[in-house]
Amino acid sequence: MTRVFSGVKPTGHLTLGNYLGAMRRWAEVDQHQADALFCVVDLHALTVDHDPARVRRLSRQAATLLLAAGLDPQLCTVFVQSHVDEHARLSYLLECVATDGEMRRMIQYKEKAAREQQRGGSVRLSLLTYPALMAADILAYDTDEVPVGEDQTQHVELARDLAVRFNHRYGHTFVVPRATAPKVAARVMNLQHPTSKMGKSDDSGPGIVYLLDEPDVVRKKVMRAVTDSGQEVVYDRQGRPGVANLLEILAACEGGDPEQLSGAYETYGALKKDTAEAVVELLRPVQERHRELCADPAYVEGVLRAGAEKARKMARPTVDAAYRAIGL
Ligand code: ADP
Repeated sequence: MTRVFSGVKPTGHLTLGNYLGAMRRWAEVDQHQADALFCVVDLHALTVDHDPARVRRLSRQAATLLLAAGLDPQLCTVFVQSHVDEHARLSYLLECVATDGEMRRMIQYKEKAAREQQRGGSVRLSLLTYPALMAADILAYDTDEVPVGEDQTQHVELARDLAVRFNHRYGHTFVVPRATAPKVAARVMNLQHPTSKMGKSDDSGPGIVYLLDEPDVVRKKVMRAVTDSGQEVVYDRQGRPGVANLLEILAACEGGDPEQLSGAYETYGALKKDTAEAVVELLRPVQERHRELCADPAYVEGVLRAGAEKARKMARPTVDAAYRAIGL
């Protein structure tokens, strides 16, 4: 059976981008077709300035939202990264295989490091080595497929390279994974800055739809989305990124094709209205289930405890084999 692994970082509230780019497929497809693990990757949240209590709260909220989005602990394994020591153990070995140059080439590192420096802050070393830990997350579980949004494909490529290099140098140890991205909405853009990704850790709230936004908040954000001065609804990601983003979101919600959908609209206003309603409907069941789960924190706690135990058992043989292979 195909092994699938993926995760979310608790650096902020989860967004529509997280849902359409990754979580929805995990719930609708992966958990049914594969032996799948989904993780709240809390160690990754420490790579930028963070508040300990907030990280803990957001980790719990992210785990609850994974379940609310439909992940079923009977079908897949849901856990928190820091509960399983194997991730950090393997990460160090992969740092010994990776090079400084390949880490510095990562687009996300360059962007985030530049942002930290602009703010006058310092760049944590863990921001640079982040892809080694992410590679460990993936490789520890003999993962075949990593369902992610487009922004993460470069990191999965690096995990592939590290697996191949390790296997070549020290003998076959790791399965070589590959990234899979959704056909539509692989990169949901910020509604106010449609040339940048809708990222949960960005500060520009009005351009981000959060999974727990009230329906009226969702409507307001979508209706105020930045488009352009054109009139005609056409799907052109380069020339009309704002309109293209709305078409992608609507198509992803309805399971259609953005280009085809563009023919059905005469005005931006009508497109925004339908997109807003589609998003409200998409989020409604997730929010309902989230409310129910919040009333039963012991259940969520139990799922995470059992998930970590299962994950630990799955990861340990591979990580132990990597320690032996590298000479320890
Ligand atoms: P972020 O902190 O940027 O929200 P995460 O690393 O927690 O991202 O992402 C969790 C998953 O959601 C990843 O698979 C990532 O590729 C996906 N994702 C994040 N933002 C978007 C987006 N705007 N569009 C599509 N997928 C996204």
